[in-house]
Order: sequence, then structure tokens, then C-alpha cells
Amino acid sequence: MTRYDDAIDASLQRLHDEGRYRTFIDIARAKGQFPHAVWTRPDGTQKDITVWCGNDYLGMGQHPEVLAAMHAALEATGAGSGGTRNISGTTVWHKALEAELADLHGKEAALVFTSAYIANDATLSTLRTIFPGLIIYSDALNHASMIEGVRRGGGAKRIFRHNDLAHLRELLAADDPAAPKLIAFESIYSMDGDFGPIREICDLAQEFDALTYLDEVHAVGMYGPRGAGVAERDGQMGRVDIINGTLAKAYGVFGGYIAASARMVDAIRSYAPGFIFTTSLPPAVAAGAAASVRFLKGEGGRALRAQHQTQARILKTRLKALGLPIIDHGSHIVPVHVGDPVHCKMLSDMLLEDHGIYVQPINFPTVPRGTERLRFTPSPVHGPDEIDRLVRAMDALWAQCALNRAEAVA
Ligand code: PLP
Repeated sequence: MTRYDDAIDASLQRLHDEGRYRTFIDIARAKGQFPHAVWTRPDGTQKDITVWCGNDYLGMGQHPEVLAAMHAALEATGAGSGGTRNISGTTVWHKALEAELADLHGKEAALVFTSAYIANDATLSTLRTIFPGLIIYSDALNHASMIEGVRRGGGAKRIFRHNDLAHLRELLAADDPAAPKLIAFESIYSMDGDFGPIREICDLAQEFDALTYLDEVHAVGMYGPRGAGVAERDGQMGRVDIINGTLAKAYGVFGGYIAASARMVDAIRSYAPGFIFTTSLPPAVAAGAAASVRFLKGEGGRALRAQHQTQARILKTRLKALGLPIIDHGSHIVPVHVGDPVHCKMLSDMLLEDHGIYVQPINFPTVPRGTERLRFTPSPVHGPDEIDRLVRAMDALWAQCALNRAEAVA
């Protein structure tokens, strides 16, 4: 064995020792059956399961209009785009998707990336090229993709305590009033399910002449009259300079984007390596995403959003009634606090093997150590039977493992 193999083994052993070595759960979703799926165990045997931790929040990944649009584009044009956006990879499907997204957010333009991770990383790291001396103020709980973009761009950054407006104000006030500034934050923080104070941050941005960058990844499709997110719901969308979203969660397909002024999009398009030097989305993916965005803007979307919130409320009420330590900030995300990685993995394993319920344990570095949790994502396709089975299983497990039934958090 070489010293390189030893180093690899040691790095993996550290994860095993901490109880946070991640294992994939192999599942097969069947179209029209989600959240039901089949799990193939490592030994090849299979079990029917219900997925409770997916981010296909509204079940759009199996929606007939989305699938029809994807089939039509696939038949019309074939599989891949065959190029980067600048070199033969811009098609009518990409243009149509960007027009749909610009309209969704009431912005002049939108720009599609391979994922919202890449959109965050590429945009945030490129802004410093456009605005020399830019200072970025970043919420302490921002997603890894934003942290990476801020870090890779180099230059000055200030991390403000999560959702702490007084701290943000203090940091803004301490810097040169003439320096260009940008505040980067999220509308819904996906691990606790709490909301960012969009209005108040926009007020501060106005006061200190800063730009705003808002990640709406866990809100697009699900909040606001047309599904444009929490900023739309709160009447703040026009005050946000750059909105980031995903096409892979509530929209059920794949890809990410930013929406902003035509000038801003033109500059990012022209400078961001993460946009320029990679093949564009397959046209069928762009077509499916556009169909999903279009559908969720309308009446059908409003109905799904209402059902989604209802299912989340029912699940939270029932878990709280059992005294389970759920974190409730009023969003659609339902985290149950466990507090250590070993218990968290054990509960997840027991739910899967004994109850056919699939919820992945959430460990460090996704959440801070000591706050390990199970994170449930109810959706309109999780009916009363699925909710009943989950609640009964959680009740039984909490008793079996003699875990605390604390007051619900928040
Ligand atoms: N932003 C946030 C807040 C996220 O939680 C995620 C993904 O989990 C992303 C961005 C990246 O989204 P995508 O899966 O489209 O890359």
C-alpha cells in the first residue's frame, strides 16, 4: 500500500470515528408513484419505501406537463446541447427558459447555469471583477455554494451573525462609505427552515448604498402568488438586485439561475468562468424546467402551494403533539432535532429498515456539530396515510430509543 492510500484511508476513518461517514441509499422512483420508491440494499434485496427527505417539494418531477415538454424537446432536438453557451450551446429552449425566469422575478433578464450551486459560486466570485474593491457581507448560515463563491472571489468579506440586523448594520457602518458593497443572504435557510429578514436587509442596503443578493433556492415555486419566492410574497422582489434560484427542487428538474437587470446579467455572462467554460443544459432539461416554472405561475401552482403548506402544518402539529423536538419557523421544512451523529444515523437506519421511511441523517458540516437532525420534507403528494405511518413510526422509535420528548423548538 502506498502512503497515498494510507492518507485516503485515514481521512475516511476520521469520518467513521465521528459517526458521520455518509452512505448512499440507492432508490428507484417510479413515475407517478412518488413519494413511493424502491430501495435496493447493499446485498441486492429490495424494499418499498416512502421518501421523506427529497427536495422535489411539490412532486413536479413527475408532473405530466413537465414530462410532455421534455419528451417533445428530446424528440425535436436530441439529447445534449453539444456546446457551451457561447459556442453552439444556446438554443431556443435556453432562451425560452431565461425569458420565463426573468418574467417570474419581474427582472429584465435571467441567466441559467448548470445548478444553483454553480450559479451562486460563479456569480459571487465574479462580482469582484466587475466591482473592484467590493466588500461582501454574508450571513453566517449561508449555503456552502455562497461561501465558496465569496471565498474564491478573494477580497474583503464580513460575516454577520445569522439574521442579526444589528450586527450587519455595525459591519456596514464600520466600512468606507464609498466602497462598493453587497449583502448576500437566503430567503429560507434550508436546514432550520427559518426565513431571512428580506425587507429589513433591503432597508439596510438602501441606507448604505449596497447591492443585495438573495438565494431563493428553497422558496422558488413554493412561495408568492406566482411562485417567485418569499421576496415576491413579501412585496420585496423589486428591491433585490440579484435573485438566485434552482430548477431542481420545487421545479422538479435540474439547473440553476440568477435573475437581475439586463446590464448585470450581461456582465456575469461575459465574465463568469463557471458560466462560460461549461456545456449548457440539455435542451430537454431546459424545456422541462420552463414548463414547470410556467405551470407553477398559474392556478395549478397556487393549488399545489396551498396543499404543500397544509401538509407541512399537519405534520408539524402531529409531531409536536407527541412532544418531539421539532424546529418550527413556519416554513415547509420540518427538522427534528437529535443532537448527535450516531443517534441520528441510528434513527434514520431504523426508520428505513423497520418502517420503510427514508429520511437521511443531517450531520456536520451541513449543520453545526451537536445539532444533528432528521429533516422531513412533506409535500402535496404525501397523503394522510403516509403522514400517519411516519407519525406512528417516530412515536415508536422515540419510545424505543428512550429519547427526550422536549418542548418543540422555536
Ligand atoms: N442554495 C441553497 C440554499 C441550497 O440549499 C442548495 C442545494 O441544496 C443550493 C443553493 C444548490 O442548489 P442546486 O441543487 O440547484 O445546485
